[in-house]
Amino acid sequence: MNNNIRAKKSLGQNFLKDPHYLKKIVDAANIGPADQVLEIGPGLGHLTRELAARAGRLLAIELDERLIERLRADFAGASNVTIVHGDALEYPFETLQGRWKVAANLPYYISTPIIQRLIRFREKFTTLTLMLQKEVAERIAAPPGGKEYGYLSVLVQFYTAPRVEFTVPAGAFTPAPEVDSAVMTLRVRERPAAPVRDEDFLIVVVKAAFSQRRKTLRNALKKLGLSGEVMDRLHAAIGIDPGRRAETLSVEDFCRLADFLQGQATERTTK
Ligand code: SAM
Repeated sequence: MNNNIRAKKSLGQNFLKDPHYLKKIVDAANIGPADQVLEIGPGLGHLTRELAARAGRLLAIELDERLIERLRADFAGASNVTIVHGDALEYPFETLQGRWKVAANLPYYISTPIIQRLIRFREKFTTLTLMLQKEVAERIAAPPGGKEYGYLSVLVQFYTAPRVEFTVPAGAFTPAPEVDSAVMTLRVRERPAAPVRDEDFLIVVVKAAFSQRRKTLRNALKKLGLSGEVMDRLHAAIGIDPGRRAETLSVEDFCRLADFLQGQATERTTK
């Protein structure tokens, strides 16, 4: 490790130095002088350097205190770069002004909560270009029908248009992770992928449906406290057979399902 800094496995530190892949990430993120860019986990600063050379402004948030002084010294002469010592899971994204592009080689141990948090603050971001464990990238982009398609696929596809850009072999990192990696871009949608009355309720339904993914919708959705009668009406009302499993429903199907179920819940409470 440079300057005697040992990579901390507990912080997901797998550093990427290969100029070929660094350039490919910045190209995929489509960074230019008009862009404000947020980098999560700058590490030793290799990707940071490439991003800083092209971005109008770069904000980099690093959790590991050992790296902060070194990063600040390395970028002291770069007036467009701000290094923040902090946790990407806590950083107050609501304070960001304007819209930002995110580019990051994410720490894999928290990549899912980071993505969920970025999506929660999606009005602050236009695109998220992220290095992920290949399997996570595949799950996010998965179409309905297979075992990779799940809660994360529906959530991310509802709010963004995901695209796997390219894969990166483990050997490109130091130290090499135990998994292969892929860079993916999530383009934040101006409007969600399909209309739904209550987005929070949609999330509740999708979570419940996939919580026991081998069960039929009829059984998996019991935990929402819906009567058997409501499930009996599902097919006639919206053309979704309650004997289907969650993984067969498209994002749009889930939206129709949520609207129908919420209508039933309202009917019950207003009777
Ligand atoms: N960007 C560097 C690169 O490409 O070589 C480092 C990437 S490394 C996979 C992940 C980085 O995220 C590490 O520097 C790690 O210390 C940092 N990190 C881990 N948890 C974090 C958190 N909660 N918030 C911000 N940074 C974090």
